[in-house]
Amino acid sequence: MPHSPIIGRFAPTPSGPLHFGSLVTALASYCHAKSQQGQWLIRIEDVDTPRVVEGSVDQILDDLEFFGFEWDGEILYQSDQFERYQVGLRQLLDQGYAYACECSRRTLRTAKAKPGPLGLIYPGTCRNKRLGQASHSVRINTESIGTLSYQDQLYGDVEINIPEAVGDFVIARADGIFAYHLAVVLDDELQNLNQIVRGADLLEATCLHLYLYRLFGFSAPDYLHIPLVRNARGDKLSKQTGATALDKNKASALLISALRILGQATEAGMQQANTAEIVRHAVQSWDYHRIPVPKGDIY
Ligand code: GLU
Repeated sequence: MPHSPIIGRFAPTPSGPLHFGSLVTALASYCHAKSQQGQWLIRIEDVDTPRVVEGSVDQILDDLEFFGFEWDGEILYQSDQFERYQVGLRQLLDQGYAYACECSRRTLRTAKAKPGPLGLIYPGTCRNKRLGQASHSVRINTESIGTLSYQDQLYGDVEINIPEAVGDFVIARADGIFAYHLAVVLDDELQNLNQIVRGADLLEATCLHLYLYRLFGFSAPDYLHIPLVRNARGDKLSKQTGATALDKNKASALLISALRILGQATEAGMQQANTAEIVRHAVQSWDYHRIPVPKGDIY
């Protein structure tokens, strides 16, 4: 059977500028797609509109260009996709896979919901209440899913018992904002993506995405999660943990550090090369098997 062309992506959230952790993810997803003669698309994940920081989209795109990345096709903005998300949400409600829920975080804490790897485990309180959707959140009924698993290209077997470890998860919030889990599945399908490279903080949440793929009747992409980049305190680099914006004056050195973190070959003298040359070299010599996977804890 002929292989379909590879289509990968980088999907930044514009809640601030790119940081070193985002550079590592961008580089890994770019090299993984381009080393297989694939396309690399950009999607701006601005579904959670109140979190969007003005000016960060331009800054992100500017940085990507400056650091030597060339994307294919049109950029997809989640904020332009709300009608499609509403159609997807309606479908899951009409088919009885999802239901409206009136529980707040406080209700869940009062109900002594237990913590799980993806947050508080929802005990199913509203599952049979038949509430209307207006000003309520919407959850997927996971009662009969059981364990879902997949083969990550780097981490191998990943599995999670969804009803026990997660419970019914939210696909639309009470304030009307669509959840990332719903948006990501509908967008990855719309953009015909067949290869997802992203941070290992989503390793387990991918099982939720796979369940949504199944409910929508879509075929799922391949996944490669990359270990998280941490700061000296051991926290994941993120805007919340104070990761700083990429310093353009050190662009070549930052790309070389990113390659080293990804276990990739770097050559003496590379520091003098410009960003486009380093990225080109990275694609040519890309070998994802060399990415070091932390032992023990999956992250
Ligand atoms: N938007 C997410 C982030 O910036 C990435 C989600 C994904 O790649 O699926 O961390």
